[in-house]
Amino acid sequence: MHELTLAEIARGLADKSFSSEELTGALLARVKQIDPQINSFISVTEELALGQARAADARRAAGETGALLGAPIAHKDLFCTLGVRTSCGSKMLDNFKAPYDATVVAKLAEAGMVTLGKTNMDEFAMGSANESSHYGAVKNPWNLEHVPGGSSGGSAAAVAARLLPATTGTDTGGSIRQPAALTNLTGLKPTYGRVSRWGMIAYASSLDQGGPLARTAEDCALLLQGMAGFDAKDSTSIDEPVPDYSAALNGSLQGLRIGLPKEYFSAGLDPRIAELVQASVKELEKLGAVVKEISLPNMQHAIPAYYVIAPAEASSNLSRFDGVRFGYRCEEPKDLTDLYKRSRGEGFGAEVQRRIMVGTYALSAGYYDAYYVKAQQIRRLIKNDFMAAFNDVDLILGPTTPNPAWKLGAKSSDPVAAYLEDVYTITANLAGLPGLSMPAGFVDGLPVGVQLLAPYFQEGRLLNVAHRYQQVTDWHTRAPNGF
Ligand code: GLN
Repeated sequence: MHELTLAEIARGLADKSFSSEELTGALLARVKQIDPQINSFISVTEELALGQARAADARRAAGETGALLGAPIAHKDLFCTLGVRTSCGSKMLDNFKAPYDATVVAKLAEAGMVTLGKTNMDEFAMGSANESSHYGAVKNPWNLEHVPGGSSGGSAAAVAARLLPATTGTDTGGSIRQPAALTNLTGLKPTYGRVSRWGMIAYASSLDQGGPLARTAEDCALLLQGMAGFDAKDSTSIDEPVPDYSAALNGSLQGLRIGLPKEYFSAGLDPRIAELVQASVKELEKLGAVVKEISLPNMQHAIPAYYVIAPAEASSNLSRFDGVRFGYRCEEPKDLTDLYKRSRGEGFGAEVQRRIMVGTYALSAGYYDAYYVKAQQIRRLIKNDFMAAFNDVDLILGPTTPNPAWKLGAKSSDPVAAYLEDVYTITANLAGLPGLSMPAGFVDGLPVGVQLLAPYFQEGRLLNVAHRYQQVTDWHTRAPNGF
């Protein structure tokens, strides 16, 4: 049963080939047996899952239908889950049990999904390798000596290892698309404001967005349907109707205009990845797409701008973790200042502390204009580049990452080397655009992803193109050895 996709599970539950309780029991057993190899779960919520599975079976017996009713899910451990530890991968929140459900968690539970647990992640979603978690690094099922990508690395590794068909992730600078690429999954970062951020522990609020990770575009469509929609509790949620994403999957690609930014194919890109990207373009041309070169001239400034804006917002968001109200508190503080200093010094890991310091510096009175304001100006230029490009093309295509998954530890002493891996993904967050990564081949046995970017609220177009591509290719069906 662990090999089924979400769509296949939906069919199996609908035609009563198995019950949700049977499926849930089988997957929980597999998580227990397999996960110690990859460390993708922080918490397994067995009791909650079995209760939800029985409830879903009862709802179905009473005549209710719905693709997600009784299907399994696991949430990145920054989605607040009522009564369940929500750690954000940090010692700071190791003892934090959320007093409410995030909107995404609540919506998927109402649709009948069964929560198997909470997945491992880089501490406070900062990272591209999933090595900075308080609960230990996550390993890539394609090669256990390599990273799975981050920060939603647990969500990606769990699906890649066939522990369950789909998970939630969040993407502030690539954390859904990059681990999807590195583990042979399909991952979608929606338009900023499409999915509620309420109850998602904030990293950089103007960039964070939740979305699905699964093996196929078809499954991402099912999951996004359950996650998307207006939420009055999130002031940046956008009140736009949610289209039928599954209905959009089979649209024709005849005449679809795809732009290839010339800046993407520069020296930093592994030439073997460039070849696979070109091969994916050929497949889409066979399906009727027309391809042209475009330019995103300000792309070179994206990493420096992002690594000012994201830490600046993080330094503000993380000020709430002070040893007083939530989470970790140091032993025997001498006075209030000692309590703040030691609780934060002991509760946060090195990368989180680095970002808080960088962000605080960039926001300080003497440097605000030189760094933060400049970065915001660059952000606008990057958005303008995309707006100009989308006058000429319907979709932008390129690599998701410049390299395949690297070895555990290979970049951990050089943060900038890891930051450079985000070069293709962070521009979508700076501009608020939707993006999708889909499997497109292998280099040295490690998966490679192709990224598609579309105009605001065109998630349906991304899913349509990825689905049509997945009907004529089989990269996404390949499983890692031993899983
Ligand atoms: N790698 C990026 C960072 O470390 C993106 C992380 C994310 O999308 N959450 O900030």
